[in-house]
Amino acid sequence: MVPSVILKPKRAQPFFARHPWVYAGAIDRVEGNPPDGAEVDLLSTTGNFVARGLFNSQSKIRVRLYSWDADRPLDRNFFRERIRRAIGLRDSLQMRGPGRGCRLVFSEADGLSGCTTDEYGGWLTVQFTALGLAQRRDLIADVLNELVRPRGIYLRTEKGVGVLEGLELHDGLLSGDLPPADLSIEENGLTFLVNIAEGQKTGFYHDQRDNRQAAARLAAGRTVLDAFCYTGGFGLHAAKAGATSVECIDVSEPALALGRRNAERNGLSNVTFTRADVFRHLETLVKEGRRYGVLVLDPPKFARNRAAIPEALRGYRQLLKQSIRLVEPEGFVVFCCCSGLIGADMLIELISQVAGEEKRDVQILERRGAAPDHPVAASCLETAYLKCFILRVS
Ligand code: SAH
Repeated sequence: MVPSVILKPKRAQPFFARHPWVYAGAIDRVEGNPPDGAEVDLLSTTGNFVARGLFNSQSKIRVRLYSWDADRPLDRNFFRERIRRAIGLRDSLQMRGPGRGCRLVFSEADGLSGCTTDEYGGWLTVQFTALGLAQRRDLIADVLNELVRPRGIYLRTEKGVGVLEGLELHDGLLSGDLPPADLSIEENGLTFLVNIAEGQKTGFYHDQRDNRQAAARLAAGRTVLDAFCYTGGFGLHAAKAGATSVECIDVSEPALALGRRNAERNGLSNVTFTRADVFRHLETLVKEGRRYGVLVLDPPKFARNRAAIPEALRGYRQLLKQSIRLVEPEGFVVFCCCSGLIGADMLIELISQVAGEEKRDVQILERRGAAPDHPVAASCLETAYLKCFILRVS
């Protein structure tokens, strides 16, 4: 008998609709004493099967749902099928190949809440944000080895997840060999060094791949400021597309160091990398009366929970305001936001307000999201986290 989690009355609808997160507040009772990480059946208040998932008493997300088929255990076959399906999408998108990189498995967006896998040439990174899947890491590594045959799989952990999920995990090799120090991937005709052991997140932000190219189209013959540059993703695309000069700004010295090496390896000499806090730096540039043809703003996630939304919006507002002051007439601002809790509509409202306050004509040219190896699951709209607006300011 699979232990069961019984919902409160009138709480089953989102889960029949396949949303994967069952919060503690929706649960009436738990029967059968499941240990953390165990398989459980989610039942409606009348005892009907809703879905099957993995239990965690230590997380606010008490159950993560994976299957809506009462006859399917969450065994190796099940996870193998899910991972195969995820890889199949990236194959269909023709995103895979020697020396290339993409997100291979994206958590809820691929029906695998709490497991994210990135591919970098012959290496994979795996990140667990759910205890149930972290406990199954050997099984998942085994399936990835079978389906991908990577040269190595490296485990990355996210700060804070230990507290949220009761997870004790340490970064390190899960199987195979460590990658070489100069592991790199090709993206839109550029090469980027990736440090999968020590870089941010799992080493590289694949989600901005198409946005970097879209921004680069506007860069020819213009001066470019790449704020929150990390290892130079947007900036190097702009330089390659013919920008007259590119200034890249970040607070992370290791990211900047890799960025400088990336510029050199791609033969791009008109790119500078400067360590600074973007908020203060933009203020200084405004005071100096500087102007740029294109500004890219790709800040980290400002809103980690609902309570943080107002403060986050103040941050985005300040960045927008300063960049509108810094852009040349008829120049462009590429404004990104990866806070899932702040939706596109809120940002459009913000753009509208700031344009009005600054008395500038702002045209929204493109409303973009993440590249398609980061799909949006219709049953879990929290997966639509990345927004990228391309604005023209006159
Ligand atoms: N645009 C990058 C990804 C940016 S991720 C790309 O295309 O790859 C966000 C970056 O913001 C990180 O590199 C982080 O180091 C940097 N960062 C965070 N807070 C910052 C701040 N206040 N000032 C400057 N950089 C900051």
